[in-house]
Amino acid sequence: MRAIALRSIDKPTKTAHVRCEIDDFEELCTMDDMTPTLGGPPAGPLDRRRTIGVDVGGVMVGGNAPVVVQSMTNTDTADVDATVAQVAALARAGSEIVRITVDRDEAAAAVPKVRERLDRLGVDVPLVGDFHYIGHKLLADHPGCAEALAKYRINPGNVGFKSKKDKQFGEIVEMAIRHDKPVRIGVNWGSLDQELLTKLMDANNELAEPKSARAVTREAIIQSALLSAELAEDIGLPRDHIILSAKVSNVQDLIAVYRDLSRRTDHCLHLGLTEAGMGSKGIVASSAAMGILLQEGIGDTIRVSLTPEPGGDRTREVQVAQELLQTMGFRQFLPVVAACPGCGRTTSTVFQELAEKIQNDIRENMPVWREKYPGVEQLNVAVMGCIVNGPGESKHADIGISLPGTGESPAAPIFIDGKKAATLRGPNIAADFQVMVTDYIEKRFGTGKVQNAAE
Ligand code: SF4
Repeated sequence: MRAIALRSIDKPTKTAHVRCEIDDFEELCTMDDMTPTLGGPPAGPLDRRRTIGVDVGGVMVGGNAPVVVQSMTNTDTADVDATVAQVAALARAGSEIVRITVDRDEAAAAVPKVRERLDRLGVDVPLVGDFHYIGHKLLADHPGCAEALAKYRINPGNVGFKSKKDKQFGEIVEMAIRHDKPVRIGVNWGSLDQELLTKLMDANNELAEPKSARAVTREAIIQSALLSAELAEDIGLPRDHIILSAKVSNVQDLIAVYRDLSRRTDHCLHLGLTEAGMGSKGIVASSAAMGILLQEGIGDTIRVSLTPEPGGDRTREVQVAQELLQTMGFRQFLPVVAACPGCGRTTSTVFQELAEKIQNDIRENMPVWREKYPGVEQLNVAVMGCIVNGPGESKHADIGISLPGTGESPAAPIFIDGKKAATLRGPNIAADFQVMVTDYIEKRFGTGKVQNAAE
C-alpha cells in the first residue's frame, strides 16, 4: 500500500492551505484499512427514568414507551378548516399528539367537528385541549368537546383564583374522571400560582440563610405541579392518568427544575422550554436544555416551542423535535444525510445543493417510503465535498458520494455498504447520485424486510 504524500506547498501564512497531493486517487478510494472503526460498546445516555405510563388516545407516554413528539396549533380552533389543515400537517410531519387551544365557547363547540373531519381524512392523531381560566365551564357546557379530546391540559396557575382555584381545578379533574381522560398538569413560570410563590417566599425570608429568589421560584414551580397532582389523585384521578410539566424559559433553570422534579415523583414528564424563541435561538436553546435532560433519562414526551417566522411553517417544531431525538440516538424517524460543512477546498456549491436536495427528497418522500420501504429510516447517506474526508465518511454510510474538491480530478467516487461501487463523471453527477440512492433504497428496503447493511 502506497503512503499518501502530504506536503505544504504554501508558506505558512494566515490563509495557507496544506494541499493533499495524491498520487493514486483510485487507491485511496479502495483502501479499506484507512477507514477507522470504533470498537467497544457504543456511548449512550443514562437509563431512562421509569415513570408511570399514560395512554393518551392510544399513544403511550412514559413507562417503557419511546419519547413521544408533540406540537401545538396556532390557529383559532373555532376556525375548523384552518385547524384541521394545521393538525393534519403537524401529524403528517410526525407529531404524535397535537394540542389545540380551547379558550371560549366557539372553540369548544368546534372541537368535535375538528375531530370528525380529521377522522374522515384518516388522521387519527390524539388532540389535547389547552384550557385556561374557564376550562371547567367549557368542559361542562360542551360534552362533545370533553369526549373528542384525548387529554386535558390544566395550568394550576390560572385555573382560578383564591377560593375558586381548588374548586375549579376539581371540576376539571372530575370531568376527566367522568370521560376517562388523562390530564397534563402544566405549570409555567409565566403564570405561576402567586399564592404558593408568596407563601414560599415568606417562609424563605424567615430562614437564617435564605435561598435566592430564583431558587425559591423553582421550588414553587415544582411544588405547584406536585401539589396539584396530589389533589387530582385525592379527587379520584388515577395516577396513570397524570402527566406533569414545569416549563421555564431559561435553559439552566429548566434543567434544574426537571432534575429535581424527576427525583421527587414517578409521574410522566412532558419536557419543553417555554418561549424558546425564533429560528436558531429557539432551536439551540431547546436542544441544549432537553438534550441534557434526555441524556440523563428524564423526559417522556417533548415539544419544541418555536416561534414561527411570519408566514413560516408550524411543522418546523416537529422536525426539530424529531432531529433532536434522532441525533441523540433515542429514535429513528428519517434517513440521516451526513454532509461536510464545506471549506476552501470545495470547488462549487454542487455538494451543498446535492446534500440539500437529497435531504428534501427524503423528507418529502418519507410518508410514502415509510409504508413502501419498511426500515428506510435506518438509511445513512453521505454527501462530501472533497477527498480529504469524503471517502472515509462515505464508507461509513450506506451510500455516499465524495465530490471533487479543488485540484482534484472531476470524478466522484460512490461508496455502497463500505465499498467503492462506481465513479460518476460529467455534468449530471448530482442527478445520477440521486438515482443511485433511490435504487439502493428499492433494493435494500423494497422487499418489505428490514435488512442490516452489515449482513
Ligand atoms: S471533506 Fe468537506 S470540509 Fe473536509 S476538507 Fe473536504 S470539502 Fe473541506
